[in-house]
Amino acid sequence: MVGQARHPAFTNRDGEAGIGNRSEVRARITRFRSGNCLAPIGPRTSGEADRFMRHIAIIGSGPAGYYTAEAAQKQWGDDVRVDIFDMLPVPYGLIRTGVAPDHQSIKGVSRRYEGTALSDNVRFVGNVTIGQDVTIAELQELYDAVVLATGAPNDKPAGSPGEGQDNVFGSAAFVGWYNGHPQFAKLNPDLSGGTAVVIGNGNVALDVARIMAKTAGEFTGSDIVAHALHALQQSRISRIVILGRRGPHQIAMTPKELGELAHLERACPRVEPADLPPEDDDLFLEPGQRKSVGHLRSFAAIPEEFRADKPVEIDFDFFASPRAILGGGRVSGIAVERTVLAPDGHASGTGQTYTIPCSLIVTCIGYKTSPIPGVPFEESAGRFANDEGRILPGLYCVGWARRGPSGTIGTNRPDGFAIVELIAEDIGNGAGKAGRPGFDALAEARGLDIVTFRDWKKIEAAEEQRARDGAPREKFVDVADMIRALGE
Ligand code: NAP
Repeated sequence: MVGQARHPAFTNRDGEAGIGNRSEVRARITRFRSGNCLAPIGPRTSGEADRFMRHIAIIGSGPAGYYTAEAAQKQWGDDVRVDIFDMLPVPYGLIRTGVAPDHQSIKGVSRRYEGTALSDNVRFVGNVTIGQDVTIAELQELYDAVVLATGAPNDKPAGSPGEGQDNVFGSAAFVGWYNGHPQFAKLNPDLSGGTAVVIGNGNVALDVARIMAKTAGEFTGSDIVAHALHALQQSRISRIVILGRRGPHQIAMTPKELGELAHLERACPRVEPADLPPEDDDLFLEPGQRKSVGHLRSFAAIPEEFRADKPVEIDFDFFASPRAILGGGRVSGIAVERTVLAPDGHASGTGQTYTIPCSLIVTCIGYKTSPIPGVPFEESAGRFANDEGRILPGLYCVGWARRGPSGTIGTNRPDGFAIVELIAEDIGNGAGKAGRPGFDALAEARGLDIVTFRDWKKIEAAEEQRARDGAPREKFVDVADMIRALGE
């Protein structure tokens, strides 16, 4: 942590800046409950204290956004005001609409973010689209630092001819559909055909294949949205092919997630023993990867008798690179080329091609950040052009928007702390900007319909109330319904 002059009253016993002692925190939570916490905190009376106030705007309320806010609290204690903006009226980004609905324990991390959100000096500002309702330049006028924590919500195109046909989706859209993202809730994928192809050998490909393979009963306790549960119940898909352009040693699937495929009620994974490298070669893998490959080996050893009871097959097709998506407007198959590993580790085509007839394709090959006009963008990497998170003076990025879509949710925590260190170096004691009250004046002048954290708690309560038996919530999938819940 970079040394900054801190107000001694907000330094804990270890000399670190914090959000105060327990009783102070409790007092703040009590104020929140009594409805005061989310009111804008006006400038302090002491001119001396004002000089030490830093104003930070974070765009995006997912993991990277909340970890950055947490880091700002730790860095400056009560001498910072953080506004976290989101285009949706609901917080948590990837946790709500990216993490698989049957992975509730991972979603539990949002409780930690709520702890941050309930502090006086951090505020959720939902239902505001930066770049549309308010520009980045306007935020830069108002805040000492503007941090883009916008994640990577767009699909990387596969670049295969025929990609634009019906029933071919990127994973952002398909995952958004079963997770109830308002942008994708109406995707309505056709699940009536026998074979679906999932392109990619990462954890998202695993999520998509598993969700398609599960029975309705296996979604008990999940927050899969009703429209997706209903569609999956009617699904006729009996074969899910996972296409990997490289081999078992090159998968990007973590062992816990891969191991889940062996315990599905009606589905069974299949790996061709001939695709597996010699077992001794596994010794050169790092332990996690070795464990994942161990799962593939055990899938290859599943006896045929065991498969008899499993009407759905999850078929790993390695060394298989997509070449063209076939069909006359609606997908009917995929042309694939066999590959071998080149000495540099890349997949190299052999010229041997074949076709997999299928009626649904989901590409799970990585994501891109959404560019923002005027903000330098690195097209090839699909993220903002940045130097360790610095984009331009006063403008920063963090998480997937900084480094691209890699790592776990927890990877964003050190990212958030690192960006706050840089910001601390750059902004010192703050430049006396208008901050929160300035934004509120702008929002009022524009007639923006802001959703606060307290509002979100009402939406959350309504979602919990309408949950089906055993489910934690039934999400609203339409922004208008979220807003309507506020009036109830
Ligand atoms: P990923 O881990 O980067 O995997 C992308 C996969 O797509 C790779 O197998 C890659 O193969 C393949 N690919 C890329 N371009 C391709 C192309 N043109 N044709 C065919 N295949 C192509 O990305 P992800 O699965 O989207 O996951 C994103 C991040 O979220 C990862 O860090 C992941 O671990 C994380 N995540 C975690 C969980 C969890 O922990 N439960 C769940 C979901 C996501 P090559 O290796 O050959 O490039």
